Amino acid sequence: MKILRTIAEVRAAVRAARAEGETVGLVPTMGAFHEGHLSLMRAAREQHDLVVVSLFVNPTQFAANEDLSTYPRDEGRDSALAEGEGVDILFAPTPSEIYPDGFATTIHVAGITEVLDGASRGAHHFDGVATVVTKLFGIVTPDVAYFGQKDAQQVLVVRRVVRDLDLDVRIEACPIVRELDGLAMSSRNVYLDADARVQASALNRSLDAAEAVFASGKSDGESIRAAADRVLADASIDVEYLELRDAETLQPVDAVERDALLLVAARVGAARLIDNHLLRGVAS
Ligand code: AMP
Repeated sequence: MKILRTIAEVRAAVRAARAEGETVGLVPTMGAFHEGHLSLMRAAREQHDLVVVSLFVNPTQFAANEDLSTYPRDEGRDSALAEGEGVDILFAPTPSEIYPDGFATTIHVAGITEVLDGASRGAHHFDGVATVVTKLFGIVTPDVAYFGQKDAQQVLVVRRVVRDLDLDVRIEACPIVRELDGLAMSSRNVYLDADARVQASALNRSLDAAEAVFASGKSDGESIRAAADRVLADASIDVEYLELRDAETLQPVDAVERDALLLVAARVGAARLIDNHLLRGVAS
């Protein structure tokens, strides 16, 4: 596996692969790899000749009060894990390689960026995501880019950018990888102390409880949310949002008719955690 720092080196490597007729898969990440990241790398490895993983803690998607400076970083560990998955190129640029002096362009997606994480983290968050992902697509020109369904809103934002800007890349969303107790894996789980770690498992349990209510035949949002709310309240979780939304548009829905997402965000100990479950609608 090659570790590349510059855009020029990545372009040269991709050009050489293309000359051999190879296909290219990209996995954008911020590092601190866990099984969720590795599952994306495996999916890319199965489907492509050249697998590129980007490792870049993107400053523009963090608010001033967020954890940019403390975000877990361990490139040595990450590069060993990526190599173990058969990744060909780890693209680990410096911030100035991605945002040189004079950088002045922002990709802003209207609408779906203004709710949920966009509302709680601020509009800059998805502007930062959309801009860096668009740059990565321009640099790597992948056939397919892999994202985790854990960040469901991010997947929808990226799909919107690709559609609206006619980018020639297919977006593949991969299932959420979980710890044994159901907690969605996240680089931020390292912020949880022992008590918070136990408490955090209530997020997925709350979504399970809601799903059970839905499976029992109740498709109204009130019953579904109430089931999740009870579990979160029992675990004394400080909920930021718990919302039932259309799985395509992220518009609020009163009942599951088309596919819907039940999404939760919460502060648990020192971490801000998110999770979601897809509830399959009969009309989808
Ligand atoms: P991050 O490094 O947190 O920006 O994540 C990089 C990619 O991995 C994103 O597409 C995430 O959605 C995805 N990802 C993070 N956690 C998980 C998980 N538990 N399961 C599946 N994908 C994940």
